[in-house]
Amino acid sequence: MKKKLLLINPVARYIKRKSIFFKNYIDAPFQPLNLAIIAALTPDDWEIEIFDEIFEPFSYREADLVGITSYTGSAPRAYQLAEVYRSKGIPVVMGGIHASMLPEEAQKFVDSVVVGEAEGVWEQVINDFESGRMQKVYRAEMLSMTGAPLPRHDLLGERYKIASVQTTRGCPKDCEFCSVSTFNGRQYRKRPVEEVLDELEAIEQKIIFFVDDSFIENGKESEERAISLFKGMIERKLDKRWGCQVSISVADNEELLRYAYESGCRLMLMGVESEKESALDSLGKKLNLRQRSRYDEIFKRIHDHKIGILGTFIFGMDTDTPEDLLERAKFIKKSRIDAVQPTILTPLPGTKLYERFLESDRLLFTNYPEDWARYDWSDIVYTPARMSREEMKKMMVKCWKRLGNWGTVISKFIRTLYYTRCLETGIAFFIVNYIYRMQYYYERFKD
Ligand code: SF4
Repeated sequence: MKKKLLLINPVARYIKRKSIFFKNYIDAPFQPLNLAIIAALTPDDWEIEIFDEIFEPFSYREADLVGITSYTGSAPRAYQLAEVYRSKGIPVVMGGIHASMLPEEAQKFVDSVVVGEAEGVWEQVINDFESGRMQKVYRAEMLSMTGAPLPRHDLLGERYKIASVQTTRGCPKDCEFCSVSTFNGRQYRKRPVEEVLDELEAIEQKIIFFVDDSFIENGKESEERAISLFKGMIERKLDKRWGCQVSISVADNEELLRYAYESGCRLMLMGVESEKESALDSLGKKLNLRQRSRYDEIFKRIHDHKIGILGTFIFGMDTDTPEDLLERAKFIKKSRIDAVQPTILTPLPGTKLYERFLESDRLLFTNYPEDWARYDWSDIVYTPARMSREEMKKMMVKCWKRLGNWGTVISKFIRTLYYTRCLETGIAFFIVNYIYRMQYYYERFKD
């Protein structure tokens, strides 16, 4: 009989949303790609089940070995689920960004911790389990992405309307609030284009999101690689619609934008973070700092290729006054940005920001691991520099209301149609804005 591996994606809190529109997109926008990768690394003589709590609260299922992933906000829930299996004598392995940043903490709650990218050690984890000699910690080296097995998208099923695909790892930049370069390294590693195309060809979903933290790096080689990927998508007639995360430098390459649209790109997510020089400086966002005066021109260049912009913005930098928060919301509303992901500055473990706030005694919630649930980019977990926490909270409610009301959603829809002259992009962004309205405006700050 086959042994069974159960892979779990826990969520910080399960939310049963009432929306009848776009429900599948709101519930589970992205596939847990890391679990599909673990499944691909597991030998054929194992049965594998992937359970994602985003769809429904966990209910017990049989397993011989359990693997749990976790980001910081879901870590307390991950530890609870680990206890369910450990109390029955079933070993639990935990990986993902949180356990990699805090392996000593994770070790208290699970049998083994995988630190870093699982590719380098998963075979050994399975071998050690089979011989009854599992180790406390497995430290993975960062491997080349060439020849990596194709993630088992088939095990994730059709409930996910958007498939996740990764083509690169690592980021050479070093923003203070981000742990990507600690987890995936500062060297930019790329998968061969043909391997990415093979994966895309095998995926059922029409919509793809490239989850690379930096899909196209600044520089000729990276841009040419991206163009050859887009050309390959066109030549193979994949007919996908896709989005990605890019830096603002992408706007300077007209050819790249043209092929991106032709191959199906309708959305580019950009870490804009702030319109204010001092705020960008405090985050260490050097590229944005240099290009800040060109924001409007950059957004226009992307719109001219019928692609919409999802801008991520951070509220609560040390330079921010209460007025600055409202100004940021005003800027977003007036700008050419088609949709916004507004987040509150969050000092995640493994970042320089966390160390700085810890040293200056500014962290307000340190009853770990329980308090990690608050570290989800929507709570104020530190003492703001230029206002009280209460004052900031009040201001943020005003900002969410300004950004999430129906007037903004509809005016953004009309403006996206006007700027991009593309009905498909307009509709895509209407859905994105509707989802953010549901997620941020209603659920987080309705009181
Ligand atoms: S925020 Fe983006 S650019 Fe900055 S280090 Fe993280 S992945 Fe790189």
